[in-house]
Amino acid sequence: MQPENLLPLAPEQAFCPNPDCPAKGQFGQGNIGAHSHQERRFICHVCHRTFSERKGTVFYRLQKETTLITQVLTLLAHGCPVQAIVAAFQLDERTVRTWLAKSGAHCQAVHEHLVEQPQDLGQVQCDEIRVKAQQGVLWLAMAICVQTRLWLGAELSPQRDGSLIERLIERVKRCASALGSPLLFCMDGLASYPTTIKRVFREKLPRSDVGVASWSNGRACCSRKSSNNMKATV
Ligand SMILES: [Zn+2]
Repeated sequence: MQPENLLPLAPEQAFCPNPDCPAKGQFGQGNIGAHSHQERRFICHVCHRTFSERKGTVFYRLQKETTLITQVLTLLAHGCPVQAIVAAFQLDERTVRTWLAKSGAHCQAVHEHLVEQPQDLGQVQCDEIRVKAQQGVLWLAMAICVQTRLWLGAELSPQRDGSLIERLIERVKRCASALGSPLLFCMDGLASYPTTIKRVFREKLPRSDVGVASWSNGRACCSRKSSNNMKATV
């Protein structure tokens, strides 16, 4: 690996990744120090473990410069063909595909950690787009919070079916606060939306006096887009 111009180690921006350490995941507590500038390693003064600067990032255990990996992943994210990257950077195709898979899993984990937190969504818009790929057609179902334009996530499937919609609505539910205001869904005329929303947001109510459990359809309602109009179909 060619040496690259690296910035000095910044222990104040690192945290201990050891799950058994009492100081795990804590920023700015002064327990992290520089262990080796040459090997780019930190040390935790609580558990006395050392760890790589790349630990917990998409670059961990990849034997290439971060600059090169970043360039390749940026090109992939913009739709550049793998073969073009292989030719331009003289990389093995399997290497590029491994980076692609690893970065995808990492981005999904970051997205779920940051976005899939309880929040008051208010109004959510769902839609699906038909993606024509080399090996066939895929359906990409997406959801967005209307007020904040926060992209809540997407699901991919070869079929535009109930399973795809259910996975999308479950993802929305993980973003919705249990104590928030009622949630309004706006979507196209796909028939599976209303029943799926009711099923996913169905909540068990406390037992009644006669000991029979009852269920609520939750606080979600939905409306469909009909040409340029929004038609309520609670
Ligand atoms: Zn530690």
